[in-house]
Parts: sequence; C-alpha cells; structure tokens
Amino acid sequence: MAEVDLAKWRVPLSDVSVSEEMISAAESVLRSGWWSMGPRVAEFESAFADYVGARHALAVANGTAALHLALLAVGCGPGDEVVVPSLNFVAAANTIVRTGATPVFCDIRGKLDLNLDPSDLEAALGPATKAVVVLHYGGFACELESVLDLAEQRGIAVIEDAAHAPGSRWRGRACGTIGAIGCFSFFANKNLAVGEGGMLVTDSDGLAEKLRLLRSHGMTTLTWDRHRGHASEYDVLLHGFNYRLDEVRAAMGLVSLGGLDEANAGRRRVAERYRNSLHGERGLEMAFAERLGEPSSSHHLAVALLPESVSRNSVRATLADRGVQTSVHYPPIHGFTAYRGLGPRPLPQTDDVAPRLLSLPLFGHMTDDQVQLVIESIVEALSIGR
Ligand SMILES: *Cc1c(COP(=O)(O)O)cnc(C)c1O
Repeated sequence: MAEVDLAKWRVPLSDVSVSEEMISAAESVLRSGWWSMGPRVAEFESAFADYVGARHALAVANGTAALHLALLAVGCGPGDEVVVPSLNFVAAANTIVRTGATPVFCDIRGKLDLNLDPSDLEAALGPATKAVVVLHYGGFACELESVLDLAEQRGIAVIEDAAHAPGSRWRGRACGTIGAIGCFSFFANKNLAVGEGGMLVTDSDGLAEKLRLLRSHGMTTLTWDRHRGHASEYDVLLHGFNYRLDEVRAAMGLVSLGGLDEANAGRRRVAERYRNSLHGERGLEMAFAERLGEPSSSHHLAVALLPESVSRNSVRATLADRGVQTSVHYPPIHGFTAYRGLGPRPLPQTDDVAPRLLSLPLFGHMTDDQVQLVIESIVEALSIGR
C-alpha cells in the first residue's frame, strides 16, 4: 500500500492528532455494522449543540453542504443577492451561486482585522439583498453588533460561516449561534477534524426542520428509523439532497470535540509566541495582533502580513527550504476567473492586504522546537528578502 509522504515538512501548516481513543471509536463503529447516519450522529449532534449552546445541531457531509443548506433554508434563490466578504474561502460564494442567487462582495476592515467591514456591508446592501454570510476569519469573531442591527432593519438573514470558529466566542456567545444559522466544517485541517464533515446550528425550530429535510432528500424518515421499525413509509416534502454525515465520522467527531478546548489552548499558546516574536519584526505584522493569545478565539489561523518590500514567493521558498510549510488565506474570490463577470465593487482594503498575507503553521500539538524553527526561518527569510 502506498503511504502518503507526510514527512517532507519539518513543520506542516496543520496536522491531525491521532489518539488511540479516536482509533477505537472509529473501530467500534466499523464493528457495529451500522455505518450510515444513526445513533452516533445523534450523539455527536447533541454534544455539539450543548458545546455551543444551540437548540439544534444537524450534522452534514461537509462545511460546504452546511452553507448550501443554510442559504436554501433562509430562502435564497434566483433574483436574490447575498453579501459575503471576498477575502474568504470560495465555498460560500460557490454555494450562493448554486442557489441561483448572486454573491455581492464586501471589503474587510483593514490589515489587522481581516473580518468584514460593517460600513462596507451597509454600502453593499440593496433591495435584492436576502442574506449576509459573515466569516469569523481565522477564528476571530466578526464584530456583529452593527451587522445584526442592519440585518434586522432590512429584514436580511445573517448566516455565520463558522468553519474556522468552533470554540470561538463573541461577547460570551459561541460563534455560529448568533445569526440565524451557523455553519461549521470538520475538514482535516480544521480545529475539529474528522476528514470530511460539517455541522449546522440554529435556535429556530422551523429552520431546523427545513434543514433536516433538505439534508436527506426532503424525506420524512431516515433509513435508521425504518431499520428500527419506527417507520415503514415516508413522504417527500421538498427537493433535498443527500448531505448526511456517517457514523464513523460522527464517532471521530465526538472524540475530537472532547479534545477541542485543549487543542485550541495549544493553538493559542503558539499564536501568542508568534505575536511576541514576530509582530513588528523587520516590518512584519501579525493580523489580529491584539487578539492573538485571547481565549475568545479558536486560533484557526496565524496570519502574518509581510512588509511590502519583500516578495511573498521568495519568503515562502526560503521557508520551504527550511522545511516550513506556509499557505495563503485567501486569494480574494473576486480575482478568480469564475467570479470576474460580477459587477465589481471597489474592495480597497482587500486588494491592499491580500498580496501580503502569509499563513504560518498552527496546530495544537506543535512542539516548542517547531515554533522556534518557524520564527527563526521567517526572520532569516525577511533579511534575505530585502
Ligand atoms: C473549510 C471552509 C469551508 C468549507 O468546508 P468544507 O468542509 O471543506 O466543505 C467553508 N468556509 C470556510 C471559511 C472554510 O475554511
């Protein structure tokens, strides 16, 4: 069997932690013989709902499916506009398009706060705006007060893309539970990882029911209900999908959830070291510098802003030579080929910041030596690069 070569990087960008508990949780589901959505998923949903403090949690196949269903559940469709920051992963924009609605990109606040700018959100709203998808970039809660006010005044739904933010809080409330619907991702490089998976959370009984139907073909019962003899017939109430999560991943998710706070605390310590050693070093700045090390953030990403005088590619090449993997979160969506046709709005802060972004390795179990290697390699790369 071919093994994937993960040893190439001395410090990978992210890393999963594989515990014996995780392996035996997955194994026991395999041995049980029931693999599709059933009791483990229900257990994961209820543990997640408790963790974030939401009335309902619905597990789905991935975070993109969560966004798609959230948009449909609040009624997005042809003729509608949905505002979303361009400095973002492409999933929200793609799913907006797939509902038939049109994404309208808004700007970020600036180089140290990469979340959406509420005043530019206001400028982006129009008579066709149906929803706004806010991102909690890197796990740093978006300032939602004026977003919620605007949404209420104009009758617009707030959907939270909380893919980065399991464990993050805004004014004491869990990210994902503040808008109408919160969407989480459990992709392998996220804080709570199962490989592929996601979760929807909402306090609305009506939205939860709609999401539940949309998740599984619009059908009124699950295979699991019929297996247990709780149902033998079903009706189809709307045109849904198969966006279900399976039992193996739910069992992995339960174990991941149990270790989430500790893993986030590990990320926080690394982020704090990056801030202390790198913020202000040779013209480099750390995004969200003031909030690096705060427990209200899940610290999904540690993002540096390179000085304008250095080439990002050469810094990345130097780091790669030292065995340090980096990435860019994100190339702005409005620059992608598939999105160039949209009526452009000026996004000066996004355009200014995007070429300078560099994501550094960050995961809960990074060793002190790994953190030190990243810091020294960056300082070295910055002195070579000028
Ligand atoms: C990962 C991610 C998604 C998509 O989640 P998947 O589980 O990979 O489908 C959506 N939005 C953001 C901001 C993400 O980081």
